[in-house]
Amino acid sequence: MMADALPRVAGKLTANAPLAPLVWFKSGGAAEWLFEPRDIADLQGFLGDLDPATRVMALGLGSNLIVRDGGVPGVVVRLGKAFAQVKAVDDVTLDCGGGASGILVSSTARDAGIAGVEFLRSIPGTVGGFVRMNGGAYGGEVKDILVDCDVVLRSGEFRTLPLAELHYTYRHSALPEGAIVVAARFRGRPGDPAAIRAEMDRISASREASQPLRSKTGGSTFKNPPGKKAWELVDAAGCRGLAVGGAQVSEKHTNFLINTGNATSAEIEALGEEVRRRVKESQGIALEWEIQRVGRP
Ligand SMILES: Cc1cc2nc3c(=O)[nH]c(=O)nc-3n(C[C@H](O)[C@H](O)[C@H](O)COP(=O)(O)OP(=O)(O)OC[C@H]3O[C@@H](n4cnc5c(N)ncnc54)[C@H](O)[C@@H]3O)c2cc1C
Repeated sequence: MMADALPRVAGKLTANAPLAPLVWFKSGGAAEWLFEPRDIADLQGFLGDLDPATRVMALGLGSNLIVRDGGVPGVVVRLGKAFAQVKAVDDVTLDCGGGASGILVSSTARDAGIAGVEFLRSIPGTVGGFVRMNGGAYGGEVKDILVDCDVVLRSGEFRTLPLAELHYTYRHSALPEGAIVVAARFRGRPGDPAAIRAEMDRISASREASQPLRSKTGGSTFKNPPGKKAWELVDAAGCRGLAVGGAQVSEKHTNFLINTGNATSAEIEALGEEVRRRVKESQGIALEWEIQRVGRP
């Protein structure tokens, strides 16, 4: 696709932009186009004028993503600083930009005395990723705190979607294909900042002890099947430490895959498929990927 075939933008549009530096696994190919809109109007104008046949995908911090080695065709949209604000709008409600991090959301909530949002402290993604994935941890999930979210649809149309329209289930939403979440309102409950801080510290320490947080990883690889824990099934299948090329099942948490150095995305994905095969063979359970896999092999 030539640049003159694309609408003019106020933000930044980059051809053939490497995505590996932008995702946790640090692997995979380039985006045909990477678009960092200046503001909502810029995003709306761009999507409205873009050939409807061109595929559009949002990228947050790439903390739940395998970008395949052949790269992502079409346009990858990444929300920058203009979308990273968080503010408390009343005693219990936070207005968050779609590109804001879980750390910023939870610390703003703490400073404003809003409890119930502490779990976002431990999920290393953006508000847009949380809303799409129904991110959750430590007994909390986005569906418990979301009031509504603002999206720019693939057509360029701006809409506010209430919680009910997202039809949340475990790590899944009915967010329309190609829609970009540009903002979300989260509702907690009144709380004491010191108690909120203590809960956030407890969550951070527990995370540190149980997950390979400083590795190149993609978070939980598989969804927990009903009534079961994915990590236990992977462990029982003998996959702890299993490797394909530079990709390895974490020794610390068996539902995490790790890029030990220079793994390709093909190796990481093949390792995940091998784990699925072994779990199916040994325990008869078909694990479902939680990590989103995008692009061309
Ligand atoms: C160490 C580690 C620990 C983790 N722990 C947890 C956990 O406890 N609980 C949990 O739920 N997850 C966990 N994750 C996974 C991940 O952090 C979440 O899924 C998070 O919601 C992904 O956010 P992101 O912004 O990085 O999205 P990305 O990984 O960039 O993208 C994930 C999906 O969301 C879509 N998306 C991203 N931004 C937007 C947007 N603005 N609008 C529309 N769609 C968008 C992408 O297109 C893609 O489909 C963990 C990951 C890591 C690396």
